Formats: sequence, C-alpha cells, structure tokens
Amino acid sequence: VSRFEHVKMAPPDPILGVSEAFRADTDEMKLNLGVGAYRTEELQPYVLQVVKKAENLMLERGDNKEYLPIEGLAAFNKVTAELLFGADNPVIKEGRVATVQGLSGTGSLRLAGALIERYFSGAKVLISSPTWGNHKNIFNDSNVPWGEYRYYDPKTVGLDFDGMISDLKVAADGSFILLHGCAHNPTGIDPTPEQWEKIADVIQEKNHIPFFDVAYQGFASGSLDEDASSVRMFVARGMEVLVAQSYSKNLGLYSERIGAMNVVCSSPDAATRVKSQLKRIARPMYSNPPIHGARIVANVVGDPVLFNEWKEEMELMAGRIKTVRQKLFDSLSTKDKSGKDWSFILKQIGMFSFTGLNKAQSDNMTDKWHVYMTKDGRISLAGLNLAKCEYLADAIIDSFH
Ligand code: PLP
Repeated sequence: VSRFEHVKMAPPDPILGVSEAFRADTDEMKLNLGVGAYRTEELQPYVLQVVKKAENLMLERGDNKEYLPIEGLAAFNKVTAELLFGADNPVIKEGRVATVQGLSGTGSLRLAGALIERYFSGAKVLISSPTWGNHKNIFNDSNVPWGEYRYYDPKTVGLDFDGMISDLKVAADGSFILLHGCAHNPTGIDPTPEQWEKIADVIQEKNHIPFFDVAYQGFASGSLDEDASSVRMFVARGMEVLVAQSYSKNLGLYSERIGAMNVVCSSPDAATRVKSQLKRIARPMYSNPPIHGARIVANVVGDPVLFNEWKEEMELMAGRIKTVRQKLFDSLSTKDKSGKDWSFILKQIGMFSFTGLNKAQSDNMTDKWHVYMTKDGRISLAGLNLAKCEYLADAIIDSFH
C-alpha cells in the first residue's frame, strides 16, 4: 500500500484541461478556443520574427548560461519598467520602482502574493467577478484572503460600473484592488478612460492599493502605450502601485516564463527595501529566474530597430483578432433570426470574447460542435480563423436556443 494513499486526485485545471480534451478529439471541425494563445490564420502557433532575430543575435554573441542574480537580468528589468511606465516617467528617474524579474505573469503575481502575506497581514485582495481563474489559486496558495467586486453585468454583457464602484467603497480601507491593465480576462470589457479616473478616485479616497495585472500590453489596442495608460494614470496621481507583467502573449513567449513584478513606492528608500524582500521571497522558491526569455525581451525592447518590428508584428496579431471578431459578429448577425443584439462582441477587446453562454450551453458547444472553451462562456478569438467563423456562429446560435 502506498504512503501516498491519502493524496486525493486533483481536479483538472479548467483552462489547461480544455487543451487536453481538445487533443483527444478527432473531429475535423474541432476548434480550441480555450487557452489564450495566439494562432495564425492556419491555426498554428506563431513564433514572432523579432524573437527569432533576437535569438540569432544571442547565438552569434555566444551568450553564456551563468546564473542570473536573484532579481533577474538587469537589462531586462530596466527595459520592462520603461515599457510599462514610459522611459521618462519620474518614478523611474527617481528610483522609486522595485522591479524583479518573475516567472511570467503568474510567478510575478505569486511573488506579490507572498509580499502581501508577509507585510499586510489581514489585508484582502479584491478581484473582479469574474476574473482569470488562476487569481484565486494564487492568493489561496499565498494565504492571502481575497474577496470580489462586481464587474460584469450579464444584462448588458458590459461593465457593472456602479456595482464595481460601490463594492470598492464598502471594502475595508487599505485593501489591494486587483485590476486588469487592459483586455480584461475573461470578459474583454475594459473601463473607459473616464471610468478609470473614477475608479482611481475611489481607490485614493479609500486608501486602497491598486494592484495591476498586465498580461496583454499591446494586445488590446495594438499600441503598447495606449494599453499602459490605465497604469500610468494611477502612477501619475502619485499612488503606490503594484504591477505584474507578462510577455507570454505580446511577445509569444508563453513557455519561456518571462515577466516582472514592479512595485512603485513613494520613496526610493522604500523601493530598495521592497526589492530586497522580493528577492528574499524568490530565493527559496526558485533561487533565480531563467535567462533566455529575459535576454529576448532585453534585445527586442532595447534595440530601436527590433522594437519597431515588434510593434508591427503586434499590430498584425491584434489586427487578425479584430478581423475575426468582426467576421464572427457579421456571421452571427446574418444567421441569427431571433433579433438578439450581438454588438457586445464588437465592444469587447483583446484575445477573448465573453459570449454569455452558460455552463450547459458551453457543454453543448463542446459535446455537439467540438468547440472547446472554458465553461464560463469565454472563447479565445486568437484560436479562431476566418474560415471557421460561420461554423462557430452556427454552434453559438444552436447552443443559445
Ligand atoms: N493574468 C491574466 C489576466 C492572464 O490572462 C494570464 C494568462 O492567461 C496571466 C496573468 C499570466 O500568464 P503567464 O503566467 O503565462 O504570464
């Protein structure tokens, strides 16, 4: 008998489990709209040209594989903060940002979870309802209590702005408010600039600490600066802000696990101390981060030519998603005779569309139509091509009725 008899079977991950089921399906029309990973029009994974160029440079230079410092590659940490806040942002010039390289977005969020657990005992992290499923896991495993604020309004398939504001107002002062910098996952619904200002007002009034998850910079609008504008507005107000970054989507570096945790502090001294603690948290967890992805980012962002090429490729990726979004909307509007208003699809941005399909309807999408998606009704448009829009529209209409 095994000493591990008491270890129970863990449930499959609701997002990554979808890809496993997809692989097992042999139907020709099958579509994987579960995981948020970019695909070409041929529905193949895509390695960016700039990434290949950066990797070639690294080979030519014969870069070594020595350990990185605990906080990561210095050249990466510099450019990642500049990309996020803008190179001439006073918080950078004044040395008020603690930046450490993290294991992509997830690992960076996890570092912040550990920091909150150690230094803000009892403080809650408030996450949007709904949010990316892993947020709950991350704060659970960090032993950080979390609650939710209203975000999605099923009636309008839009933002429940009043609900959000009132939930932020009733939350205990000094709570951490987790915000998606852009391209909210799973809803694809972002606040307008005016709404962002009001959210910042309430957060300031309540002495809350804004905590941004930026997993899609450049992917929502196609512009790196525009997609960072929410974060920059909070920083410009002089607030202390946490920001987790990921290069999984915008540079297609999913498996390289490259991202960063940035903490904007009100003094350089505080930033130095916060950084020292982030390092102390990282050391026994994974010792030091991987170098390959960090070098790619440092080369691409740090070189004006490659940087411009990256922007062009990102516009292409964001553009392809916008094109299938439009085609899906057109197909649904033409085929559906029920009079349902599908315009919410066009209002959403980023990789995802939140369809409003419930669990049973999402099951129908998979069981009858071989369309794999998460059971909250989210579909990744990055996994869709023009050729399959009509088929997907048929599946959605059938599942709704
Ligand atoms: N945060 C959000 C909202 C996401 O959607 C994702 C990826 O799907 C991540 C963070 C982190 O992804 P990664 O750990 O690959 O950077």
